[in-house]
Amino acid sequence: MEKRAKKVKNVVYLATVCVLLMCWPIWASGNKKLSENLRIAVTAETAKVYSHASDNSAVVKNVAFGKQLQVKQSSKNWYSVDDGYIHKTDAVLYDMSKKHIALTFDDGPSETHTETVLDALEKYEAKATFMVIGQNINSATGELMKREQTMGCEIGNHSYSHANFKTILPEEAQEELQKTDEVVEEYTGKKPTLIRTPFGLCENNVLCGMDRSNICWSVDTEDWKYKDSERLIRYVTENASDGAIVLMHDIYKTTAQAVEPILKELTEQNYEMVTVTELSAIKGVNLEAGETYRFFQEETGTESEEEETLF
Ligand SMILES: [Zn+2]
Repeated sequence: MEKRAKKVKNVVYLATVCVLLMCWPIWASGNKKLSENLRIAVTAETAKVYSHASDNSAVVKNVAFGKQLQVKQSSKNWYSVDDGYIHKTDAVLYDMSKKHIALTFDDGPSETHTETVLDALEKYEAKATFMVIGQNINSATGELMKREQTMGCEIGNHSYSHANFKTILPEEAQEELQKTDEVVEEYTGKKPTLIRTPFGLCENNVLCGMDRSNICWSVDTEDWKYKDSERLIRYVTENASDGAIVLMHDIYKTTAQAVEPILKELTEQNYEMVTVTELSAIKGVNLEAGETYRFFQEETGTESEEEETLF
């Protein structure tokens, strides 16, 4: 009898230890005190600041896209700011002492290579933007897009069949975009947030009809031409700059294999890898529909300087 009681006691003790060990990381990560260098930039069109960390609490104020706020604490779903609480999904947390860059991957999703890119991003807690082609999306690659979304990556619309928007009719270009919107939404529940026209080409009458921004690039790696991992790693790490948008393609093995070393080197160079929309918010640049952007720089000084940075 006594032996049995001892056994029960041991089991209870062990179970308690297990529960405590399992709960410790949840408790420890629940309410993180943050370094003074950390800010949040609003990535939603308008974000609400609530009086408490609850949707049912009062809305203290609304803050616009690109607004920077000092952040005190981070919990599972909320950032605590001066006046209250803001949803994590409405803002990006970033380190103002670091440089920021947006890596973009076109022409996927690829059943064979996109996963390698995602594994590398996950390892380095980095984010990227995937400019997908509608005709590549099926049940298998749709799952990869869901993973991209869960990881906080961004998905852009790169047309349905990689058509040249300079040689097709404007209504055909709109149809290319619409078909891709629909198939992305089918898998992720969300319409792509950005557009990247194939070959970076577009006529003004197509751009005018766009309900989102067109995103080009400032670092053209030509990974499709060289298909050489070593060259790609060298090219990206030597040409990276604060606010840059890098063009790569997640449909080549040589590119997919280069992503991990690229992330390692950029991390050592003091970069944070963010999505295109996050980069624009961090730089305080508002993304206008029908406008083309190639990189983002903080808008300081006179208006003429602003015009130089946005084209
Ligand atoms: Zn392309």
